[in-house]
Amino acid sequence: MSLTVALVHLAKIFLPFLVVKCVHDKVRPDVEQAYCPDCGKLIKNEWYITRCSCCGVKMRAMVKNGEVVPQGHFCSNCGSEDFTVEKVDKINFIDINFAALVKTEAEEETIPSVTKCWQERTPEPPKLLVQYL
Ligand SMILES: [Zn+2]
Ligand SMILES: [Zn+2]
Repeated sequence: MSLTVALVHLAKIFLPFLVVKCVHDKVRPDVEQAYCPDCGKLIKNEWYITRCSCCGVKMRAMVKNGEVVPQGHFCSNCGSEDFTVEKVDKINFIDINFAALVKTEAEEETIPSVTKCWQERTPEPPKLLVQYL
């Protein structure tokens, strides 16, 4: 097996996984939610901050393996290891320096999809196609 063939073979195995995993990086962070232009899913921007659970000081948050964790292991104020994660409803310019942005795919069932049928108004009542008398 030549190197090119081997690479194509590998790409065929791994490419579907790469394509499926969309990071929605074209969804702007300053909107509450938007449709991702890459995958078409409705993406919600959620901001989280982390706080020291001992003294309550804010710790810079980051996303690691899909979880919101503080960037430092210990509180810079009291040295505690424990932290709590808080969701920020409305991000402001102070919290944005501490917050981590999590882009979650909105549940499709939260969007009501109703199929509506409209009937043309006609002066006569609709007739039956076939009448057997
Ligand atoms: Zn996407
Ligand atoms: Zn602390």
